Amino acid sequence: MNIFRSSLFLLLTASLAAQTITPRARAIHNSAIIVDTHADTPQRFLYQNFDIGNTDPKDIGHISLDKARAGNLGAEFFSIWADPETTSGHFARSTFDMIDSVYQQAARHPDRMMMAFSVADIERAHKQKKLAALMGIEGGHSIENDIHLLRDYYRLGVRYMTLSWSNTNEWADSSGDIDDPKIQHHNGLADFGKQVVLEMNRMGMMVDISHVADKTFFDAIATSRAPVIASHSSARALTNHPRNMTDDMLRDVAKNGGVVQTNFYSAFIDDNYRKAVEAQKQDAEAAVEARVAELKAAGKTVTYLDKDQVEREWAAKIPRPPLKSLIDHIDHIAKVAGVDHVGLGSDFDGVSGALPEGIDSAADLPKITQALLDRGYNEKDIHKILGGNLLRVFSEVERVSRKMQAEAARTSTSQ
Ligand SMILES: [Zn+2]
Repeated sequence: MNIFRSSLFLLLTASLAAQTITPRARAIHNSAIIVDTHADTPQRFLYQNFDIGNTDPKDIGHISLDKARAGNLGAEFFSIWADPETTSGHFARSTFDMIDSVYQQAARHPDRMMMAFSVADIERAHKQKKLAALMGIEGGHSIENDIHLLRDYYRLGVRYMTLSWSNTNEWADSSGDIDDPKIQHHNGLADFGKQVVLEMNRMGMMVDISHVADKTFFDAIATSRAPVIASHSSARALTNHPRNMTDDMLRDVAKNGGVVQTNFYSAFIDDNYRKAVEAQKQDAEAAVEARVAELKAAGKTVTYLDKDQVEREWAAKIPRPPLKSLIDHIDHIAKVAGVDHVGLGSDFDGVSGALPEGIDSAADLPKITQALLDRGYNEKDIHKILGGNLLRVFSEVERVSRKMQAEAARTSTSQ
């Protein structure tokens, strides 16, 4: 080996070492049931005809069956999100269409994927080496102020619902527009919102406080009889975004027995990135609006993916934050709330490609395990973060549901 070749060799091994997963990290990662609680892939299923069995190496998506397998992803909560702008006037229909799109994928790939509705289903899928597909509704507007629709969604398999998305609905204030005086707010959760929370508890649907305004969060915690989740939220102490949770909120989730599933989106985990997004926000929004107007003028139906395409171009102008930023958030939540109250809520396929360096898809999840190991987390704690905590909370939500239903049955027979 000449000098040139040996120095090249050193350079290559050094750069590989930065990404290499050690056998110990690999063993820890591969022995875990990994649960991610938020991926927006159904937008692709429905509007792009994307097949989760896709094997195109050039596909920019974060989720496919191959990518899930490579990252040992055991369970994914697919986000059922009716974009309030492009599906206005037919939220319920869009919600049903989105739910159907997940079932369609599972039906196409019965050997590698199965619909899952419980902790027991997730464990069964893990044993059968299949991806467990679960569903969570993103945004209480999907129920159109109708408790019957909420129950229908549960029957179809939806196992969490964020009380709001970025839009305040008729019964829950959102962090996305809480400072907008044009929006009618409710000082948190309105009475009907409290009924929604209790009905979710009774049925066994996890109450998800990601996206809600701070007051809605505190009202939800005070109302819920079961632990709550934040399916995709990070820490505000590190990155000052209203979508993130303050340390007080993190401590309250810990007291409630719930879990905060860390969002990977660059603008939620890195303050430099967040500021860069803020600086170009007006221009980026104008570009999105121009594209929407152009499509509408041409008589085309506009979907979230049309807007996403423009947002990707703007996101790509900002350098990606390091993976360290994401790990800092997991670590902060683990320190403030406790290691029993933190997990993963990637927001895969919902962030216009804006993820930290090294995380290009679900296949890169082992890098998170490696980074946690490097920070001194032990195997038991890493397993909790990767999915154990979420499974504990989900079990508790199932237990509270059985208890509430038994109470209701006793009351009705004694009358
Ligand atoms: Zn979201």
